[in-house]
Amino acid sequence: MVNYMEYIILDLEFNGTYSKHRHKFVNEIIEFGAVKCDEQMNIIDTFSELIAPQIAKKLNPHVTALTHITLDELKESRNTFSKVVSKFRKFLGDGVLLTWSNSDILVLMENYHYFFGNDKLSFLKYYVNLQKYCERALGYSDKAHQLGLSACAETLGITFEDDSLHRAYNDAELSALCFKALYDSELLKQYLYVCDNDFYRRVTFKNYNICDLKDPGIDKREMYFNCEVCGRRALRRSKWRLKNRSFRANFRCLRCHKDFEGRITFKQCYDHVSVTKKIAELPPKKPNHTEQHGNEQ
Ligand SMILES: [Zn+2]
Repeated sequence: MVNYMEYIILDLEFNGTYSKHRHKFVNEIIEFGAVKCDEQMNIIDTFSELIAPQIAKKLNPHVTALTHITLDELKESRNTFSKVVSKFRKFLGDGVLLTWSNSDILVLMENYHYFFGNDKLSFLKYYVNLQKYCERALGYSDKAHQLGLSACAETLGITFEDDSLHRAYNDAELSALCFKALYDSELLKQYLYVCDNDFYRRVTFKNYNICDLKDPGIDKREMYFNCEVCGRRALRRSKWRLKNRSFRANFRCLRCHKDFEGRITFKQCYDHVSVTKKIAELPPKKPNHTEQHGNEQ
């Protein structure tokens, strides 16, 4: 790795549209916004470009509502994707690219593929998913919900105008402020990827919940629950059942006589399986009509 690093935080706005030509939906990029930081996290350069759509004839109402960008503005830019990418690659140089969650880099790859027929961003050397980095740096542990950019900024006491969000440059700048507040060069090393073939396999990998108990990704030793009250290992009293892609079974704490439902999910990620456990009230028992009493006839 080079001795001196520049960090380029990129945010994109895009417009989902149907390409009749390719018979598929494309998230066509309409705006690039980026800031460049030095190693002390000072903003040393900025990048902001609109792109006139080449696939879409109009903008989605929700894109207009979110960004307040008009089609006329985009057309006035006279920019094509190709022109802006070529400017951006000069701006990026050999620096590290950071985006908030990997959706923007996936959209960039999608557009790159659409316009240039290439799956890989040939100019990209290093990449960091800033959302994952900030989640870790903040000790954010909610596996069910990803940390939003504005929530992260609020946690860090960084103030911003609500109106200014959802424009590429503003989001990139806010991401950079979050990054600066949480900058830790040692931690960053764990999140910095060299953009080789393995990186592209990783970034395009779609996580999924394992639904087959025989799947080798399932570690049966994880399939236990402790009582929420006394912390003791609870006794499983039913077979595992699959519901909403989680395995569920009835448990009882023999000490507290407490019954509960244990729910466990195994999420297959690119290079590991992420296990989540939850304790819930048991589903209410269905009325049992075969019992002796209660027959009123
Ligand atoms: Zn107990």
